[in-house]
Amino acid sequence: MSTVLVINSGSSSLKYQLIEMTNESVLANGLIERIGAGGDTGSSKHTVTLPGSEARSFTSEHPVADHTEAFKVMLAAFDKHGPSMAENHPVAVGHRVVHGGKRFFGPTVVTDLVKINIEDLAELAPLHNPANLDGINAAQVAFPGIPHVAVFDTAFHATLPPAAYTYAIDAGLADKYRVRRYGFHGTSHKFVSEAAAEYLERPLGELKTIVLHLGNGASACAVDGGVSVDTSMGLTPLEGLVMGTRSGDLDPAILFHLNRKAGLGFAELDELLNRKSGLLGLSGHGDMRDVVTAAGEGDADAQLALDVYLHRIKHYVGAYAAGLGGVDAIVFTAGVGENSDVVRSGALAGLEAFGIAVDPERNTSGHRGRRRISPDESPVAVLVIPTNEELEIARQCLTVI
Ligand code: AMP
Repeated sequence: MSTVLVINSGSSSLKYQLIEMTNESVLANGLIERIGAGGDTGSSKHTVTLPGSEARSFTSEHPVADHTEAFKVMLAAFDKHGPSMAENHPVAVGHRVVHGGKRFFGPTVVTDLVKINIEDLAELAPLHNPANLDGINAAQVAFPGIPHVAVFDTAFHATLPPAAYTYAIDAGLADKYRVRRYGFHGTSHKFVSEAAAEYLERPLGELKTIVLHLGNGASACAVDGGVSVDTSMGLTPLEGLVMGTRSGDLDPAILFHLNRKAGLGFAELDELLNRKSGLLGLSGHGDMRDVVTAAGEGDADAQLALDVYLHRIKHYVGAYAAGLGGVDAIVFTAGVGENSDVVRSGALAGLEAFGIAVDPERNTSGHRGRRRISPDESPVAVLVIPTNEELEIARQCLTVI
């Protein structure tokens, strides 16, 4: 047996998956929420699922003060319900780390120096890197003596050419303050673009692919021969596509205008653009399911939110097709991309002149899993490929240990 434990650590949550790598099957899948919750109950919730032919799920509540205690709760659940750590002890722990800056271009075995660098990069990802580091420190206590590997969301985009990553601002300032496009969702873009080549049975090196990762956060990526050459998120995950609560692209002068005219300060503008904009700001609904339902019932705000969302995706598809000099495959993934036929058909409507079409029957078939939704004769393959960031992290772990 050769298992890898994958950790996605947030400021108040810990997601984990134990994956058996010989057949890439999930042995346990869990989430511990409300870590460090004070308040009246002071209780954290732990949900663990043990998949398999007879899948079982368990939920329990515990006071969990910090990530170190969260790992104890996880190990206690393994003791009680399985899988046995004696038989399935991981050979490595893989950690999702959001920001790798210009320092980390691939999976990296965690050392003290690596941790110092992750901490230093927290100024570029203040909500994520410190929480990721808490998870690493706690996991090293719970699983001593095995390698811990950091897999960075930014790493896949380390190949962006300067023309794609440079913002046209004062070069000295940009350099001093590390201002450039980094891009995110890299683990997903890598997994999905490779899976597309596999699905199409074509060599990755010859494929030009546009990946549309449409989840609560959303980003587009242009992949040329397996290499990321452009992506829509920037210095932070705010830029690019319209998201659940994030605005995506806008004229930066809007900020000066709102500051001068509406008296909004930096903290309020940050809150506005990251948490109160996007679908939520336009329609009052942050979840695409609610937006589609409301639009279907004639709600004009929801219809506009959907139209703006689709217009932005189409804008990036056109830009990336031009940048790539053609496109072989367009791939939808993540919560919205995998589940919403309305979004998939709307985003690509009217692109037949470019060889891009969606077959209505295939698009609405309700099939899960990897599938083609363009007609067979259509020059550009339009695919739906469920992402699997945990598996990608586990695979990358094995490449460096
Ligand atoms: P993710 O971030 O990949 O987990 O995606 C989460 C998002 O997927 C949610 O915010 C939902 O808006 C969206 N989603 C899930 N199922 C559907 C669906 N059937 N139709 C539209 N959106 C969906």
